[in-house]
Amino acid sequence: MRILIVDDEPAMHDSYRRSFASVGDGINPALDAMAAELFGASVAALPADPLQSFPLVHALQGMEGVAAVAAAKRDDDPIAVAFIDVRMPPGIDGRETAARIRALDPEIHLVIVTGYSDFAPIEIARVAGPADKLFYIAKPFEVAEVQQMATALVHRWENDRELTAARLTLAAQVVQLQEQGHELAANESRAMHLASHDSLTEAPNRLAFRRALAERARSNVQFAVAMVDLDRFKLVNDTLGHLAGDELIRAMCGVLQRSVPEGGMVARLGGDEFGLLFDTPGQDAAAADCERIAKACATTFKVLGHSVHGGASIGLIATEPGETRDPVDLMRRADLALNDAKRDGRGIVRVFDDGMDETIRLRRTIETGLSGAIARDELSLAYQPIVGRERLEIVGFEALLRWNTDAHGPIGPDVFIPIAEESNLIHEIGDWVLRESLKVLVEWPTQYVSINFSPRQFRRHNFVARLVEEVQRAGVDPTRVQIEITETAIFDDADRAAETLYKLRQMGFRIALDDFGTGYSSLYNIRKFALDCLKIDRSFIDGMGRERESAAIVHSIIHLGRALGLGVVAEGVESDAQLQALRVAGCSHMQGFLFSRPVPKAFARQIAVTRFMTDGSGTLPLLEDDRATSG
Ligand code: C2E
Ligand code: CA
Ligand code: CA
Repeated sequence: MRILIVDDEPAMHDSYRRSFASVGDGINPALDAMAAELFGASVAALPADPLQSFPLVHALQGMEGVAAVAAAKRDDDPIAVAFIDVRMPPGIDGRETAARIRALDPEIHLVIVTGYSDFAPIEIARVAGPADKLFYIAKPFEVAEVQQMATALVHRWENDRELTAARLTLAAQVVQLQEQGHELAANESRAMHLASHDSLTEAPNRLAFRRALAERARSNVQFAVAMVDLDRFKLVNDTLGHLAGDELIRAMCGVLQRSVPEGGMVARLGGDEFGLLFDTPGQDAAAADCERIAKACATTFKVLGHSVHGGASIGLIATEPGETRDPVDLMRRADLALNDAKRDGRGIVRVFDDGMDETIRLRRTIETGLSGAIARDELSLAYQPIVGRERLEIVGFEALLRWNTDAHGPIGPDVFIPIAEESNLIHEIGDWVLRESLKVLVEWPTQYVSINFSPRQFRRHNFVARLVEEVQRAGVDPTRVQIEITETAIFDDADRAAETLYKLRQMGFRIALDDFGTGYSSLYNIRKFALDCLKIDRSFIDGMGRERESAAIVHSIIHLGRALGLGVVAEGVESDAQLQALRVAGCSHMQGFLFSRPVPKAFARQIAVTRFMTDGSGTLPLLEDDRATSG
């Protein structure tokens, strides 16, 4: 940092030189004090010889001074203060010099050394300002005056520079802060999006759905809440893998978004379940919309190169004008309607009605009662004979569960087994059935016992091992135990089921495929399962005399069974005509009220020993149903 002197009189330069020579020798503390008074206390903290490190630059003409400043700028060896004489013939005057220097360097402090008759300061300030960087010294000046001014200005110049640098850093920091602020805001909105959206489909999630629903419920508009569940989704997931499952979910979400009424919301509530929320003039219109949506879902999708037939079941509730709506309750009701829809098949739309609530209450009562049924000794088994076609000899008994409650009287297995199956109760109950029927079996001379197993029991971990253990404990030969399972139990996870059946068969157990004809199994596929017999569902036997179709089904099942070397048991034989028709068709075994209703164990033992219920002519006295009595 240097000090520039621009003056056309060489004598003046000497005079400046003298002024600065005495600075910094520490003899003049009064000067520092003066400077401090003028420009602030910090000047007092200046080093002892501030000006010695600022050599003088001398110019005898204005243009020379301008050139010196330009060079200083270029060489980055800046000039802090310039003392400029006003009159410098023949060249440019002090005002012009100041203006040009200012144009080159906005930081430099200019001290105009002026006589009384020269320019008014305002005129110079106009071209060489700003005013706080422009100073005046009257000629002739005192040495002390110049010293003081130079000291103060150099210091101030340094301060200004530091300040500018600090401002720049600060500005950069502000920019950085702003950027961080933007980033934070972006992060926040991303977090908000994540919290309210499903990552797989980008659709709103359960939380967002609940919020939107709560908001709608507060408004005065009529709207509908629908729960959508994809049909066969588990199957796609299990057979084609999770990636395919994800793909199907995305595709389905797209279909829903395209088919939901305008302005409606499609949210993914989890798994393969979606929620719809849309305004509607009423229940019928909403139901029609849902039917349309279900139809749109029933289409074939390309999923990872596979054709998958999609489908959706929908449960729906629409609000009435002026009714109070609790959002949680609306969702619950739509859910109940969905359960109902799923229970009835696939691709079905159900509108909630109060009966569904009633059903739920009943189911709960049953579930609670059932959980203590074994302890209260309310369960029993009835045994229904299975007879051979010709002489109607009893070859086995099907064990059928009975529940006699104190509170509600007898409750049929058709009612309580599905409920037990939806909870873990089925295992406890199933274990009891198995143990009890094995105990009874040992009292029979030759017959087998046919035990029903629900799909969940069949799929239970260690199913085979448990069964073997129980049979061994009872001291029973597995060939005298027949396992009845339904098509649903084996076709949902066919490979695993085939393996389980094979193992059971290896152990000697008999396997019967129950309710055959009512499921979705292809007749062709049953070949891969190790089976002993097919049980033709009662509904076909019942329809045999009335509908050509039923008769045709019965005939083809019998044919199929024979072709595969399987026994065929006709269930629900009630009339002599049915018996004769089945005999002609070649059915190997029969079961039904015509021969015997399910009977208590004592009576079962009796007829097991005699092996016939009649003289063998094929006509039988109908036996009492025992449903209400324990065995
Ligand atoms: P299912 O396995 O199809 O059993 C045959 C059903 O038909 C029995 O009803 C039986 O009483 C009835 N039945 C037999 N012959 C005739 C007839 O000639 N006419 C008519 N109308 N019905 C006849 P039930 O005992 O009410 O059992 C109903 C269902 O409950 C059974 O159907 C079976 O799926 C289930 N179930 C019964 N006991 C058990 C069990 O211990 N475990 C499991 N998992 N399910 C069981
Ligand atoms: Ca059965
Ligand atoms: Ca059956």
